[in-house]
Amino acid sequence: MNERATISLDGDRRPVAVIAFGGNALLRPQDHGTQEEQFTLAWKATRWLVEILRRGYELAIVHGNGPQVGNIMIQVEEAITKIPPQSLDVAVAQTQGSMGYMLANQLRNRLNEEQLDKDIAAVLSQVVVDRHDPAFDSPAKPVGPYYTAYRANLLMQEAGWDMVEEPGRGWRKVVASPKPKQILNSRLLKRLIDDGAVVIAGGGGGIPVYEDVGGYFRGVEAVIDKDYVAAILATDLDADLFIVLTNVPMIAEHYGRPNQRWLRTLPVTRAREMLSSNQFPPGSMGPKVAAAIDFVSATGKEVLITDADSLKQALERKAGTFIIADGEPEYAPSQ
Ligand code: ADP
Ligand code: MG
Repeated sequence: MNERATISLDGDRRPVAVIAFGGNALLRPQDHGTQEEQFTLAWKATRWLVEILRRGYELAIVHGNGPQVGNIMIQVEEAITKIPPQSLDVAVAQTQGSMGYMLANQLRNRLNEEQLDKDIAAVLSQVVVDRHDPAFDSPAKPVGPYYTAYRANLLMQEAGWDMVEEPGRGWRKVVASPKPKQILNSRLLKRLIDDGAVVIAGGGGGIPVYEDVGGYFRGVEAVIDKDYVAAILATDLDADLFIVLTNVPMIAEHYGRPNQRWLRTLPVTRAREMLSSNQFPPGSMGPKVAAAIDFVSATGKEVLITDADSLKQALERKAGTFIIADGEPEYAPSQ
């Protein structure tokens, strides 16, 4: 069942793992948002990243950037009388740089401590979306600061923003969340992985660009789901394992109900059925499972969904949920 266990680490090709985790792992809602906090959280993250490397995998990392890009949009707004604003695609690029730096720096320190010798590359990634994606017809993803009605009106009229009111909190900009089609520099990322480097790419779901008339790429204000981009990256890198790290140890059937059961193994056909019967909400587990289904269907390989505390055990198949190409669902023993 587990062919990876028999892959020799001295062989020509080491197995490849891609891990996706949320921007919350590097900046939590209860944090002040200081740099020190972010470096500390990045340091903590390197502990579980090293677990994957210790298991013999080459590794690509896709981090989210929700809280971080939100803070940049607040900085833009606060400085508006002094510095011209920048668009969301440029802000995403900034988070790829700043978060890539923090992660790479802390991973370097961790690898040094553990006497592991690996190159680390944080790479900017443009991700192509379809300009005619239906998501652009009804932008729904809130980003950045809350505004007063007065300023929101101005921005809607003068800057052409789409905004919605969140009762009691104020007005917020909303952007589209189109499906990613392609990562522009996948070939380069593959070469880095084949060369043994740890790659940090696709951060925040990538810098959204579309292909304009004549084949010119241009940035667009949108937010791409990092789980979908990670699935594309995992496919492009011929990954053996795609890990989606979140804040639950496993996927549950009938989540939050009295008849809830945690799943250890979830065949992709059953995952599809559960997705269409709304067992995975769009804002949370839905995109993760949909991305997992994409990867397993494209490659026949496995996806592990779990949380940071369970990752080490899960890599030994003793925890987490594995979404697999075929077989029967297996449940965790009930507590
Ligand atoms: P992330 O920040 O990692 O994207 P989300 O909060 O968006 O995390 O998604 C993970 C959440 O999905 C879990 O905390 C859980 O509340 C929710 N969830 C919804 N359906 C399920 C399910 N069937 N099994 C497990 N968790 C689920
Ligand atoms: Mg989420």
